Amino acid sequence: MNKVVPSSNGLERMIRQQVMDRGISDPRVLSALRIVPRDRFFPSESAGEAYADRAAPIGHGQTISQPYMVALMSERLDVQPTHRVLEIGTGSGYQTAVLAQLAAEVFSVERVKPLLDDAFNRLMDLNIRNVHFRHGDGTVGWPEAAPFDRVLIAAGAPNLPENLLRSQLIDGGLAVLPVGPEDDQMLVVVRRDGMKLHTTDVCPCRFVKLIGQEGWEAEKK
Ligand code: SAH
Repeated sequence: MNKVVPSSNGLERMIRQQVMDRGISDPRVLSALRIVPRDRFFPSESAGEAYADRAAPIGHGQTISQPYMVALMSERLDVQPTHRVLEIGTGSGYQTAVLAQLAAEVFSVERVKPLLDDAFNRLMDLNIRNVHFRHGDGTVGWPEAAPFDRVLIAAGAPNLPENLLRSQLIDGGLAVLPVGPEDDQMLVVVRRDGMKLHTTDVCPCRFVKLIGQEGWEAEKK
């Protein structure tokens, strides 16, 4: 575990009501949520929003994911302490910080440079040092560091990014990601079995768009 920060009442209530009461019980995930101070991932003027049961804007048209969704994705990814994890869509860095408690190393890619810089600074301030950051299109993976035990994609892909998953996941590895049209996505768990990909639906969800080579096209300005 990284640096231990005492959890506030708001955080504890968030974990009980939004996470445990909805069926998340993995003790390692719950302990990671207790360790990472979610309010530090919000601008000071909206830190009061940190424990609300929803996603929240972080600028650049992006959002920090809902606490339950971070917990659910972390649990379904079944991250073990020896694992190297590829995360696509750093955003605020909150999910990254949670993964950093669960894995040996996290490789996180973000296409919006100012978001990546802020996330980097937050994780440095929290003394979380097992994360590698990269600016760019995560749908092309991180070839020099591949293959990964786990892949988490925090933005909605139009279709399953098959090339990415086959090239970046170890055989037997798992990925969790939202797939589908912008307003009708499904959170799925994918298991790589040789060159086959087995997909299991988890629940409907709504994420911002995954933009890139194996995602949506960037909107023209
Ligand atoms: N889990 C994050 C939320 C991420 S929002 C949190 O809790 O803060 C999704 C992020 O994915 C956005 O910041 C968006 O810019 C980023 N993104 C979208 N497409 C991407 C791509 N192809 N590569 C890297 N990042 C991408």
